[in-house]
Amino acid sequence: MKKRFAMISLGCAKNLVNSEQMLFLLDEAGYTLVPEADGADFAVVNTCGFIDAAKTEAIDTILSLAELKKEGRLGGLIVTGCLTERYQDSILQELPEIDAVLGVGSFGDIVAAADSVCAGNALSRFGDKNAPVDEIPRVVSTGAGWAYLRIAEGCNNCCAFCAIPAIRGRYRSRPVEHILEEARELAARGVKELIVIAQDITRYGSDLYGRRSLARLCRELAQIEGVEWIRLHYLYPDQFDDELIDEIAQNDKIVKYLDIPIQHINDAILKRMNRRGTGAEIRALFRDLRRRIPGLVLRTSLIAGLPGEDEAAFEELCAFLKEARIERVGVFPFSPEEGTPAAAMEHPDAETAQRRAELIMQLQAPIMDDFLQSFVGKPLRVLHEGEDADSGLHTGRSYADSPDIDGLVLFSGDSREGEFAEVIIDAVEDGLLYGHTD
Ligand code: SF4
Repeated sequence: MKKRFAMISLGCAKNLVNSEQMLFLLDEAGYTLVPEADGADFAVVNTCGFIDAAKTEAIDTILSLAELKKEGRLGGLIVTGCLTERYQDSILQELPEIDAVLGVGSFGDIVAAADSVCAGNALSRFGDKNAPVDEIPRVVSTGAGWAYLRIAEGCNNCCAFCAIPAIRGRYRSRPVEHILEEARELAARGVKELIVIAQDITRYGSDLYGRRSLARLCRELAQIEGVEWIRLHYLYPDQFDDELIDEIAQNDKIVKYLDIPIQHINDAILKRMNRRGTGAEIRALFRDLRRRIPGLVLRTSLIAGLPGEDEAAFEELCAFLKEARIERVGVFPFSPEEGTPAAAMEHPDAETAQRRAELIMQLQAPIMDDFLQSFVGKPLRVLHEGEDADSGLHTGRSYADSPDIDGLVLFSGDSREGEFAEVIIDAVEDGLLYGHTD
């Protein structure tokens, strides 16, 4: 009988792509995916180890699966991803319920891990995390009509608060032809929106081709029949050039939504955090982007309570947010990550960081609300993703919404899942847009 497994993917979209690759390999090897770990031969947990909250979520998930194992309701437990990479020396001692561990350079060994666990053997593999990106096919597990397209791995930016470069290795771009081939396959399967992701997509190609090549990649992606939206995630503010801005402005398929994490606006903090560029340069970039790209929706992420953030620096950040009126903002309280330079620096206490993060969200709420209200009475192109069981309405996203992090459009009328619909927006409620198609 075929062995059955459950997959739990935690963390970011980059991790999800690795989970999708493991699903493909396990399926090819004859293993059967089941929705629940209860009763499965083994479970795979693909972890995130980025900040404390993510680590806690991963450990809680592992412990609850360990409990199932103890009760004889789950065969084996395989743990992969960032948490294992980060704590490879201690994870098996700390969590002896785990049967097999794979580091971020060893996702491709998932079948060997499954075979070992099913035979009652342990396995531990940590391959080279700086090796070229694995070109493993994948099973797309995301919603109707869209898929992530990972173009690079790792990061060279070495921001002082971030553990990613140590976990995920140096920046490695995938060759253009591999990305295009994958994009063509996705489009042939009905994917209309490609969400281009990497830790930093602006430096795409600089390692392989000696120059930043995101604009060229977008031009080529836009030629693919069936691709209608290209969404860009994680652009580093100091890596924009005129070629890229012009491409975004002129290429109709690139949605006018840019995710540019800035983390802070205060010069001294940016410098201490090893961010390149100044607050003035970020302000100038945002002004320039808005001038050259009409209708642009900006998203950014911030960290409240970074080392050096006194009251004046926090006020400066709040003043910037009021002035820039950024449509989409995410904020984390500073999490001192062991092994990073920022963890050794003096910083506001956790309570202050949390309070400041909440203040930022309060400040942003009316800005977000005004932005959503601006759609009322107007038509909006929406990618129809599914149905809302409670209201019976269709659900979808406009260009202003990225999956999982932004809002949804709920609408009635004729429409087909996985296709675009022209929705007239009638109202805004609890951060969601409501409308109809005819
Ligand atoms: S650019 Fe992003 S992923 Fe890279 S080090 Fe900085 S915060 Fe981390």
